[in-house]
Amino acid sequence: MDKMEIVEKYTLLSEKIADADMVLVGVGEEFNEDFADIGRFPHLMSALEEVDIDQTLEWTVPFLEHRFLKEHKDGRLVEAYQSLYELIRDKDYFVITTCIDENIKKAAFDTERLVEPCGNHAMLQCSDKCSSALYSSEEFSDLVNQAIWDGVGLDSLEIPRCPVCGKPLAYNNILCEQNYVEDGYQKQWERYTKWLQLTLNKKLCILELGVELNLPSIIRWPFEKVAFYNQKANFFRVNASLHQMTEELRDKGVSIGMNAVDFLREYCRS
Ligand SMILES: [Zn+2]
Repeated sequence: MDKMEIVEKYTLLSEKIADADMVLVGVGEEFNEDFADIGRFPHLMSALEEVDIDQTLEWTVPFLEHRFLKEHKDGRLVEAYQSLYELIRDKDYFVITTCIDENIKKAAFDTERLVEPCGNHAMLQCSDKCSSALYSSEEFSDLVNQAIWDGVGLDSLEIPRCPVCGKPLAYNNILCEQNYVEDGYQKQWERYTKWLQLTLNKKLCILELGVELNLPSIIRWPFEKVAFYNQKANFFRVNASLHQMTEELRDKGVSIGMNAVDFLREYCRS
């Protein structure tokens, strides 16, 4: 896709957003954290080297990744989220994301207007799902930080365990697979479905960003359905490889064949 064509489509997008009553945003796989910047955090790198040497410390890796997510506050994903925020900040918006890294919260989005159905790293759950109880991850994250900085090393840590059955705790997200406790996002999910019901007769601008086909029933298919049934909807699909529009949406759909993170960073900076 050439530059002029993308600029034209961005202009159209900003006009449709300005004109819309409500803006629905879906954020998908292209926004998943790739940990490419971890080399900028030498204390985390030496902790990972410790894991390389001692395989019994393998269990600490997700906790070290969480430290990275907490400490890494800039970079291309955050830039993209800031551009997105500027684009929709004054609108009645709702964002649904399949990302579990919470990078989106590093921009100023209203978290009441955000739902993360795949979970995140804020809470821990029993890896065996003996109950649906959730526990804050904050305290253990602080212990990991201390172990790294005080030089006592990762082997001073003990794996956090379920107070009910004694099995290891895991982050409350989709990486728990069939044991994922879905209670964590229910309150926001209810807000989201209520908000969606209100869109039916409104001028709705739908922006699908970097959503691929790993979890199509969360964003991709429902967005197509909402766009189809809403007579006043506009639908923008931004994706490097899967940007094709369905036949039914040809009239109200706009495809932008570009990585959505780069699109926001390069074309949506005000
Ligand atoms: Zn348990």
